[in-house]
Amino acid sequence: MKKSLKFILLAFIALFSISLASCGEHAHNFGALHEKVNPTFLTDGNIAYYECMDCHKYFDANKNEVDTIVLNKYSKEISLSVNYETKADFIVLEEDDNHISWEAKDLNLLRDDGLRIVDKKNNRIVHKFIPDTTSNITERCSIHNDVSNASISLTYTLNGLYLSVSGREELVVQFNYESKLTDMIQSESNENLYELNNVRLKKDSLLNIHFMNGVYFTMGKANSNFRSYMVDDIMYLQCLTDGIYNISFNTYGRDVFIELVEEIPHYTYYFHQYEYSGGNKEMEETQDSNEVVLRNYYLLNNQYYYVLKMNDKDTEDSAPYGVLDSDSLLLGETIDFGVTKMFKVNDNAYYDIYFNTETNEFRLVLIEEE
Ligand SMILES: [Zn+2]
Repeated sequence: MKKSLKFILLAFIALFSISLASCGEHAHNFGALHEKVNPTFLTDGNIAYYECMDCHKYFDANKNEVDTIVLNKYSKEISLSVNYETKADFIVLEEDDNHISWEAKDLNLLRDDGLRIVDKKNNRIVHKFIPDTTSNITERCSIHNDVSNASISLTYTLNGLYLSVSGREELVVQFNYESKLTDMIQSESNENLYELNNVRLKKDSLLNIHFMNGVYFTMGKANSNFRSYMVDDIMYLQCLTDGIYNISFNTYGRDVFIELVEEIPHYTYYFHQYEYSGGNKEMEETQDSNEVVLRNYYLLNNQYYYVLKMNDKDTEDSAPYGVLDSDSLLLGETIDFGVTKMFKVNDNAYYDIYFNTETNEFRLVLIEEE
C-alpha cells in the first residue's frame, strides 16, 4: 500500500511536471528590466522589456508576454511639421552607412514657428536634435527670425539629428498695391534693419512691406504722416503728406519707421470752363506722377477751358477762382487771359482730358463725338 501510494504520488508529480513543461508555465526567471532604446534611421530600437533567463521569452515592462521587443528603425520618408501642421516633405540628398541627409525647401517661416520632424503618420520622430543655432533656429527648434524661401537641412549621424535653417529675408516695399515692387536693402550695421531711402511719396499713396513671395506683415505702427489703411485684410500705410521719405523696417520688432526728409506741397488740379462758375471738376491723379486726368468730360466748341492748380492748404471751402497760380494752364487753340492760358476744341464731344503738371500741356483723347 505504501509502495503504491508512493508510486501514485510520483506519477502525479511526473504528470504535473509534464503538463507544466508542455504549456510553458514555469515561474519565469525575470532578470533586470532592459531599458527602452529608441530606433534610429539606421538601427532598430527596442521597448523596455524583461527576458526570462530560462525560456528566453520576452515580456514588456508590466511583465506581459510580447511577441517582439523590436521597434523598427525609422522610415526615411519624413516631413517637416510647422506649428503641428505638416508643411513639407524632406527629400533624401545622400546617405551612407552612418549618415543620411535630407532637405526641405521653399518654406516661409515666421519668428517663433516651432519645427518638428514627423513620420508619414504625423508621429514625431523621437531623437536627439542638435539645432544649429547660428542658422536662425533656437535650441528649442523654433525660428529666430522671419525668413522666406527657407531651406531646412537635416542630417542624421550617430550623435543625433542636426537641423539647420537657411534662407534670406527678402523684403519688398509695395507702392499703391498694384504698382511695381521695390526691394529694400539690408542695413550694413544692423542685420535686422532694411532700408529704402529718398522715396518720393504722394499724398494718399499706399505702401506695404512684405516678403517677396507674399507673406504680409501687419503694420500697425506709423508716424504722423501716415495712417493705417486696410485693403482686403492687408494693412497698408496711407501717406498723408507729399514728400520725400526714408523708409526702414525692423524685421525683429516688425516696426516700420518712415522719416519725412522733405515735405513737398501737394496740389489739387481742377478743370474749368471759363465764365461758368459751376464747372469745378477735380482732376484725378494717374499712375504717371506728372499727369492728372478728367475722364469722359463733355467739351463745347465755343467755350474756353483751363486748369487750376491749388495748394491743399489754401483750398478748404474756397472756390478755385481767385487762387489762380501763375504756373497753371492750357493748350489747343489758346488765348492768354491775364496769367491764365485757355484752350478751345473744334467739335462738341466727350474727351479724356490729361494735363501734364510739369510741362502744363494738355492731351485730349476723343471718347465720343456727338
Ligand atoms: Zn521562462
